[in-house]
Amino acid sequence: MQNKDISHIFREIAKILELKGENLFRIRAYERAAQTIEDLPESIVKVYEEKRLTSLPGIGNDLAKKVEELVTTGLLNYYHELKKQIPSGVIDMLGISGLGPKTVKLLYDNLGIDSIEKLEKACRQGSLLSLEGIKEKTQSNILRGVELYKHARERIYLHLGLDIAEKIIKQLKSTGLIEKIEIAGSLRRKKENAKDIDILAVSKKPSEVMDAFTASPLAAQVLVKGQTKSSVLANERNIQVDLRIVGEKNFGSALMYFTGSKDFNIKMRQLAIKKGYHLNEYGLFSDKDSFKKRTLASKSEKEIFSFLGMAYIPPELREARGEIEASLEDNLPELVEFGDIRGDFHIHSDYSDGSISLEEIVLCAKDKGYEYVGICDHSQSLKVARGLSVSLLHKKIEAVRMIDNRQKNIKVFCGSEVDILAQGKLDYPDSVLKEIDFVIAAIHSGFKQSKQELTQRIVRACQNPYVRAIAHPTGGLRGLREPYEIDFDEVFKAARDYNTALEINCHPERMDLSDTRAMAAQRFGVKLILGTDAHNAEQFDLMAFGVNAARRAWLERQDVINCLSLDELSKWLGK
Ligand SMILES: [Zn+2]
Ligand SMILES: [Zn+2]
Repeated sequence: MQNKDISHIFREIAKILELKGENLFRIRAYERAAQTIEDLPESIVKVYEEKRLTSLPGIGNDLAKKVEELVTTGLLNYYHELKKQIPSGVIDMLGISGLGPKTVKLLYDNLGIDSIEKLEKACRQGSLLSLEGIKEKTQSNILRGVELYKHARERIYLHLGLDIAEKIIKQLKSTGLIEKIEIAGSLRRKKENAKDIDILAVSKKPSEVMDAFTASPLAAQVLVKGQTKSSVLANERNIQVDLRIVGEKNFGSALMYFTGSKDFNIKMRQLAIKKGYHLNEYGLFSDKDSFKKRTLASKSEKEIFSFLGMAYIPPELREARGEIEASLEDNLPELVEFGDIRGDFHIHSDYSDGSISLEEIVLCAKDKGYEYVGICDHSQSLKVARGLSVSLLHKKIEAVRMIDNRQKNIKVFCGSEVDILAQGKLDYPDSVLKEIDFVIAAIHSGFKQSKQELTQRIVRACQNPYVRAIAHPTGGLRGLREPYEIDFDEVFKAARDYNTALEINCHPERMDLSDTRAMAAQRFGVKLILGTDAHNAEQFDLMAFGVNAARRAWLERQDVINCLSLDELSKWLGK
């Protein structure tokens, strides 16, 4: 259990208590405790182990006991009992951005709305307007929140999808019935989210594989069971998983077909026709007529591409965005690979809201085989994330220098994720910025400004001689906050002209810039930088998802700052 997990549960409790109309004092107690734990500069587990819980502000005996239960069992009985007293749909409604417990209670008490579906319907019918205090604008904001909520749950993020798919594949392999097995569909194309999971396999005993798949402990519900194709809902996230058994001899054509994308498949079929062939999931054939046709290629994708006179197209590129033409001209990009990554810059330490120390960060970076690492904590205005005052920043710079001096195989940079304030001014004066090795600027407030104002803020930040990159340039948070609108041409122009990189934030909830935006930036002449935004040790692994997005954006090594050698990087840092 991490601090943020416990503070999240306490906040949920506060919301449920508010829904139930409990006394304000208890509600505030949970909110206060949640804040204390969230702001805590050390691990709550450590505080518990050292028996210091009750020394924390707002944590009395009762709350200390609850923390103890969470730390030792991972669960909290009180929270589960509390949740049972409220219809689960009402609890779901609390997860909608911009909808507080007060409004949820109002909707439930007066209109009997106890599910997201009913809420959506009521918004569309305009029924909320009959309630006191709810205006047209509030109603449309709630509806927007519902749409974001639903969208975030209809699809699952790539990392979760891959995780579920790999577990299922591992389990199927353990039956000994499988000769070959691959993930297909959008997951194989490493699209940032997926609406289902496609798996293809080769087996001599298809019906036994179907039995094993549908009886799997990983499946919550069987949707269809057939001889060679079955679908289940995975017990994680309720996502649909389709498993198909195909013949060994047409595994390649099936894999290509079920990997897609749809548009890519259409273009490939058209290309085959133009060359006088016929392409489908069973192979590439000499003719459409089943009596006359001869199989030209089907066993592997490589074989099919090569028969059509094409270079192999990596799955990440198969979106009908010009890759077929480039492949025919043997002009595909040499995509950046994970092994090309030499460092990460966007990492938060326990100086601000991260949970790892400077030393631990260096160890994690070495573990990844990096040649350099930048430690970027928040700046002074971002109080919620414990941004660093100038004096604390000075302390940190000194600490980083000391650690760096002790290192032989890795360079440690002191960075900062500096807030871009309302008018585009930066959160530290230039005299301070120039002492920092690596300044990443980012917007964390004022999201409601106009497109023009937001664009100007980023443009001004790009122009600052000390700013090397802009973090999460469009500020979206999946399911919670839509990206704000900016004028990309203007931002790209400033980024290119002032040699400021734009970040592909690797965090699954951000993935900002998206693949298509990053592609547009590269074509404009802008450099991209991958940032994990890691707040703990595990999140160093998110780099793989940034690399996926970079590959989908057609990026090559020279487009990505993280691929620079230390010498090249030092030169670039000098702007
Ligand atoms: Zn940030
Ligand atoms: Zn950050």
